[in-house]
Amino acid sequence: MSVDLGEYDIAIIGLGVAGSNLAALLQSHLKVIAIDKKDAQGHCNDEYFHKPCGGLLSEGGQKAFAKQGLNLPHTILVKEQIFAINTIDWHYPYASYIQKAYINMERHRFDLWLKSLIPPHIHTFHKAYFKRIEQTSSGDYGIYFTQSVDSQNTSYHCRARFVVGADGAKSHIRRWLYPQLKTPSLVCIQEWFKESNPPMLSCIFDKELTPSYSWSMSKDEYFIFGGAYPHQQCQRAFTLQKQRLQSLGFVFGQPLKREACLVLQPTRWRDFVRGKNGVFLIGEAAGFVNASTLEGISGAMNSSRILSEILNTLQVNATSANPTSLHRTYAKRTRLLVCKTLFRAYVRYPFMFVPFLRRFILRFGILRVRCGLKNKHII
Ligand SMILES: Cc1cc2nc3c(=O)[nH]c(=O)nc-3n(C[C@H](O)[C@H](O)[C@H](O)COP(=O)(O)OP(=O)(O)OC[C@H]3O[C@@H](n4cnc5c(N)ncnc54)[C@H](O)[C@@H]3O)c2cc1C
Repeated sequence: MSVDLGEYDIAIIGLGVAGSNLAALLQSHLKVIAIDKKDAQGHCNDEYFHKPCGGLLSEGGQKAFAKQGLNLPHTILVKEQIFAINTIDWHYPYASYIQKAYINMERHRFDLWLKSLIPPHIHTFHKAYFKRIEQTSSGDYGIYFTQSVDSQNTSYHCRARFVVGADGAKSHIRRWLYPQLKTPSLVCIQEWFKESNPPMLSCIFDKELTPSYSWSMSKDEYFIFGGAYPHQQCQRAFTLQKQRLQSLGFVFGQPLKREACLVLQPTRWRDFVRGKNGVFLIGEAAGFVNASTLEGISGAMNSSRILSEILNTLQVNATSANPTSLHRTYAKRTRLLVCKTLFRAYVRYPFMFVPFLRRFILRFGILRVRCGLKNKHII
């Protein structure tokens, strides 16, 4: 049996960066339901969803926070704030630490902090798994989900005038809305180890194993290694890459935790889909992630802030709103964000993502703040 929750103006599916920020910004005259599969408080080792993410806040992400007047609490930062990334090309004997002004956060704590900003007027369901969506004859949407509390599963459904898909790279809503759209994606695999290396950030290129890159980072007492790999043989590529890096001096040990997820590779204008017919997409579900660097926190913050400004103009009775004009405004106001995301994927980091430029820069020490390898060993 399914519990009927009644009618809402807006249903938000997914409370990651984009969904939580939207929920925090929607005004109280709107009746909003929000569901997310993570636990409300959560712990580093709970069994609910944890986003495998670098948790590095770029300058673009910092600017998105500044725009909203949001300050990061120190509790989400990790001990190591590191200002240079050891850039390594497996097929080349040179490596350089290159300066980057990232803020190093613990991503799960960051997600939970963002969730904590959601005001009480948003009807929030945690540990709730979205199942399906259907359009009703009146043009509203039926939303179906289950929530698990103390090992008890309860099914719910509700109706909503507008739906926001904020459910990340593997978005159900994106696939339901655009079944024909095939945006390429990679599989990210990440393992956590007890820290046995000097604290560092690194970015590793190995064209045999991945068209993207892999990374290592220090977070409190942990050392994290991960990479983005083609779907086929992703596990094999991850294992092989660990072996190769051990020969450069990386120390792994026994993995304490393993995480995996998809990351989209939006490299064409049509990969950025922002919704239709009263269903909106924000964050990575809309394609706002940099296909080269995999950075997406800024796109998630910016797209959700823009959508909140549009939805907040809805009157108390949202049934009278014209979805077409809302979609037009959202598409127009996110056009620059699409341009920036595409531009940055191709242009902003050419020294890292174009092999011959990267090698040239590593070889001649351009941008180098210090050497990253000595006698084929990381330093
Ligand atoms: C390996 C990796 C490393 C990254 N590193 C960085 C980085 O260092 N810096 C950076 O800026 N970006 C990074 N990114 C990108 C960044 O993590 C994403 O772009 C960002 O999290 C997108 O936010 P979002 O809210 O759109 O999606 P998400 O953060 O993925 O949130 C989606 C939410 O939807 C919920 N959800 C999904 N399906 C369901 C369902 N069926 N029912 C209920 N809830 C559901 C999930 O619980 C989740 O909370 C990285 C991405 C990956 C994959």
